[in-house]
Amino acid sequence: MERAIFLDRDGTIIEDTGYVGEREKVRFLPRAGEAIRLLNENGFKVIVITNQAGVARGYFTEAAVADVNSYVCESLAGMGASIDKIYYCPHHIEGTIEEYRKECYFRKPNPGMIEEAVRDFGIDLRNSFVVGDKASDIEAGRRAGCRTILLAGQVPPAGEDNGGSLPDHVAPDLYEAVMWLLEPGVNGKE
Ligand SMILES: [Mg+2]
Ligand SMILES: [Zn+2]
Repeated sequence: MERAIFLDRDGTIIEDTGYVGEREKVRFLPRAGEAIRLLNENGFKVIVITNQAGVARGYFTEAAVADVNSYVCESLAGMGASIDKIYYCPHHIEGTIEEYRKECYFRKPNPGMIEEAVRDFGIDLRNSFVVGDKASDIEAGRRAGCRTILLAGQVPPAGEDNGGSLPDHVAPDLYEAVMWLLEPGVNGKE
């Protein structure tokens, strides 16, 4: 069974500048590449799970999401870091694009993307973690049965929907989150 770290994308790996739909808008957060490289070196699958309701809202297409995702992976490769797979959900219940307007089990705080990754990779959720900057990330992790780390150095989660789900740990950024979960005794395999 694989151990995995499920990472949110916007506000966790790259800056959340609001609906990042083109590679020119991608700005990596400090030490994000280094953090992911550490996860690679320690044998974790690194899976990105990202809500991309900008598609349902008509701000950009799925092709644009794929392009940004490719750019993120290519840039990380240049930092010696690799992502095993990116899952995204383009849906939103209030979308303006008919085909994407729906309540979706893959949209966080639902655990659909995590469960799909478990099927694809054979992941042991009890030894896996979700890291994200919003309450919906933490809630998705809780529903899936992972431990969770909230990044409080980015956008504060107050006012975010589905709040009230407490993380197992709070860290200022992804690098510090990784340093914590790699501590002996935290991730269960030391
Ligand atoms: Mg985020
Ligand atoms: Zn969806």
